[in-house]
Amino acid sequence: MSSPTYDGAVTDTDSALSDVPVIDPALAGRTKKVLLAAPRGFCAGVERAVVTVEKALELYGAPVYVRRQIVHNSHVVAGLERRGAIFVEEADEVPEGSIVVFSAHGVAPSVHEQAAARNLRTIDATCPLVTKVHHEARRFADEGYRILLIGHEGHEEVEGTTGEAPDAITLVDGPSHADEVEIGVDEKVVWLSQTTLSVDETIETVERLRLRLPLLMDPPSDDICYATQNRQLAVKDIAADCDVLIVVGSGNSSNSVRLVEVGLEAGSAKSYRVDSADELDDAWFIDVGTVGLTSGASVPEVLVDGVLAWLADRGWIDVEEVSSAEEHLIFSLPTELRRDIKAAAAVPRDAGR
Ligand code: SF4
Repeated sequence: MSSPTYDGAVTDTDSALSDVPVIDPALAGRTKKVLLAAPRGFCAGVERAVVTVEKALELYGAPVYVRRQIVHNSHVVAGLERRGAIFVEEADEVPEGSIVVFSAHGVAPSVHEQAAARNLRTIDATCPLVTKVHHEARRFADEGYRILLIGHEGHEEVEGTTGEAPDAITLVDGPSHADEVEIGVDEKVVWLSQTTLSVDETIETVERLRLRLPLLMDPPSDDICYATQNRQLAVKDIAADCDVLIVVGSGNSSNSVRLVEVGLEAGSAKSYRVDSADELDDAWFIDVGTVGLTSGASVPEVLVDGVLAWLADRGWIDVEEVSSAEEHLIFSLPTELRRDIKAAAAVPRDAGR
């Protein structure tokens, strides 16, 4: 027969009992619970960009071309493709005279020029908070500043902002890169940032830059947007209580990837990013009591619902939403689209009959 050892674990000497799982006393009695972070999911800029493509399809009919992923979420992109959107990498892939929507991440002025050269009708779904950074870049470049743009190399938003003043902008890709940036001693220097960075990492990058550049100027207002900041704060609120944190979001979504990092730094034992419930793995939940759950700014709530359903099937039915902020921001649709919607509405229903 097997017998309890002094620390309470069960020895495995009896083959008849060898299949009985050994229970870690520290985990005994844990209840299964989900902490659902709020705010999470769609931000105002993503909502506006997705609705822009939907309205464009309704108004002009398919196909409507979209340069790059309208937002960084494969589920959203696939849904719009089914409705007639065609996603392209560059404007020169769009047939002359067609309608093209620019994504929420923004584009460089050269992209507008390419579109004009092909006689494309453009609808610019750049998030207004990204446009704000473009304006800052132009203004500081005009005033003779060297702009240190903190952001991730190759990200579409960084490409678009850099395109506003390529000769004045130097990319700083994280804290370690801050020590390598070459700046002339007499240069006026200001830093700007991508909107979807980790707040803490950006502060660290700026502190390291300031060690070398004491006169480094701050941007007039936060470039990391309200939605990115709120989602990171919400994760910090729950992370220390989570045995595992699940972040729903695509791999190319900067703000989703940051949420995984923020969750680990704030105390979650483990953290995984998934596009949807299909990517969840039972092995991640062995000996887990509390599961944290959140989603990036480009993620529709239906994907979070899928994860909740997957967890409920495995006993996590107790769900507590932990809210750290309320969001009420709504952006109006792009001017050119609103103008066409208004014009279409003004046409009498029986016109042409
Ligand atoms: S994450 Fe921020 S900057 Fe990006 S689309 Fe949303 S609100 Fe705009």
